[in-house]
Amino acid sequence: MRRLFSRFLSAQKNTPVRYPEPRLKDLIFFVTDRCNMRCSHCMFWRRIDNPGPELTLEQISALARSIPRLRTVALTGGEPFLRHDLWEMIETFYLQNRTSHVQIDTNGSMPDRMLEILDRFADLQPGGYLTFQVSLDGLKETHERLRRSPGSFDRAVTALQACRERQDNTPCFRVVALTDIHRENVTEIEPLADLLSRLRIPHVYDFVRGVDYSTWGIPPEIRAEEDPRDCGLPPVEDLPDLVERIAAVDLREGGQFGQWMEQLRIQVDLYRGGKPPFPCLSAGRTAGVVYSDGSVAACEFTRPFAHLGDYRFDLNALWSGPEAAQRRKEIASCRCTHSCFLLTSHQEWLEQTGQVPAFESVESSG
Ligand code: SF4
Ligand code: SF4
Repeated sequence: MRRLFSRFLSAQKNTPVRYPEPRLKDLIFFVTDRCNMRCSHCMFWRRIDNPGPELTLEQISALARSIPRLRTVALTGGEPFLRHDLWEMIETFYLQNRTSHVQIDTNGSMPDRMLEILDRFADLQPGGYLTFQVSLDGLKETHERLRRSPGSFDRAVTALQACRERQDNTPCFRVVALTDIHRENVTEIEPLADLLSRLRIPHVYDFVRGVDYSTWGIPPEIRAEEDPRDCGLPPVEDLPDLVERIAAVDLREGGQFGQWMEQLRIQVDLYRGGKPPFPCLSAGRTAGVVYSDGSVAACEFTRPFAHLGDYRFDLNALWSGPEAAQRRKEIASCRCTHSCFLLTSHQEWLEQTGQVPAFESVESSG
């Protein structure tokens, strides 16, 4: 499979790249900055410590009305389940934008709310699907130390188990555990995978992100200030070995990680000074970020460039306006390991070459 993929990538290198028209397909929406945790690896800790205003449901509805059909909306934060009107937002994007995939990134601290939303989604008309992505950073002691939240491991595992039980009878739903790999949890990759395997919970990995070490070539004036508070990437020379350990877990689990494994390998190449096999085709074009206060960015590694309030919450007008056009010029030559934009850029490139694989989803913090 890997050989096939590599041959495909080298064939694609000869294909001229076409930057897609600016039409949003994948939206990352930070529904709140509020969070009930203070994780050491959180890239958004400045926002979390000083939560700003939040868009109202009416404003969210206006932004959803303004944009065409979405492929994915990732609702993130902060802890999204803290928003009492989370269900109404999901309904808005799902029914109004005919969004194929709604993903919620969560720390798994509110299992009852998760099940309530899941049940309501299952009652909606079929056609799309819902994913809960629950963060799990290691075994109990490590997870709770990194999350600074006693009891959080048991709550997250309870949430994962309860959702996994429902998944068998709910075809439009899936739950997945996400582990951000950093220097504090590298020794627990295998035991955590063993635990999740016993619980029949799909598991994906990402490297902990930070503007300081995960990006190259962003013009300083538009570079966001988003880095973990006190956590970092394992030494770069250890990364190839780490990926092979994850690949061994994947092999044992029957190859469930799919495109995520290729993405981890691309990320390691980038950290070791390599070039990405495809440019960033999605940020500011087919994929973008709306923050909870209504500010809009091409990606989380670059600063917001406009505010929805200045466009009467018409995201479509903002996305096709002069500030967005200017931002697309400014980000023309940066690169980074941000998994959401690697996935969506890769997808875009595959579509351009007439190959459309089973697509994973965009994801963010949680
Ligand atoms: S997502 Fe794209 S635009 Fe944003 S920093 Fe990464 S490469 Fe640059
Ligand atoms: S990583 Fe997620 S759960 Fe942890 S503080 Fe940040 S937003 Fe909250």
